Amino acid sequence: MCSGRVDLAFVLRAFSNGMDGVFIGGCRLNECNYSTHGNYHALNMVLLCRKIMEHIGLNPERLRIEFMTSGEGILFAEVMSEFGNKVNKLGPLGKAEGIDQNELKSKLAEITKLVPYIKLVKKEKLASRLESPEEYDKLFTKDEIGRLFSEVISYYIDPEKCQACMTCAKRCPAEAIVGGKNLIHVIDQEKCMKCGTCFEVCPPKFRAVTEIAGAPVPPPISEEKRTIVRKSKES
Ligand code: SF4
Ligand code: SF4
Repeated sequence: MCSGRVDLAFVLRAFSNGMDGVFIGGCRLNECNYSTHGNYHALNMVLLCRKIMEHIGLNPERLRIEFMTSGEGILFAEVMSEFGNKVNKLGPLGKAEGIDQNELKSKLAEITKLVPYIKLVKKEKLASRLESPEEYDKLFTKDEIGRLFSEVISYYIDPEKCQACMTCAKRCPAEAIVGGKNLIHVIDQEKCMKCGTCFEVCPPKFRAVTEIAGAPVPPPISEEKRTIVRKSKES
């Protein structure tokens, strides 16, 4: 219904499924019927995705967004025809850019996994309302996207501090936290989508979750050492 609903993950999925180009059509900017102005969000998402495409070596011209009304059939036909011709000229995704197909698949899968993190980190820019096309290219810079991926934040539960209150495991949207009653919790880094919820909800008196930027996460504590022996029981 709304172009604002087109998630970054949808676009990446289309490319992962072998689409050579993706077109998003939205209502004209500033003509949204709702206060949400989702078409601005769609525009920002496209600008971000295009920079990510450049970062992994894909031609950003393969992704296009245009704004028009439902009464502009001729314009729609023209734009689609022009875009179709462009994508045809660009050739098959990845092959034309000289990227190995398996490498491309794994790069797209890696980025798709980071979509919640990317959206969280870039939420302010994704909500901005650009006034003119001259501002489009400046919203996200090449260096910024490079840093986005080189300084990815990981979350780690300090086994010395975790008190097994289970709050983080209950709130984790990816079921990435392994734990239980009286068990030190650990994060399954493969499942973690870096939303930061565990960091936010771990009670301040424990502060067991830490953020690690651009560095490897320590290995998880072994299963046999995870049981917490409470002092009262010990005595
Ligand atoms: S950051 Fe924490 S809450 Fe979010 S997915 Fe990873 S483990 Fe779960
Ligand atoms: S919220 Fe903090 S103290 Fe509670 S189980 Fe998770 S990491 Fe441990």
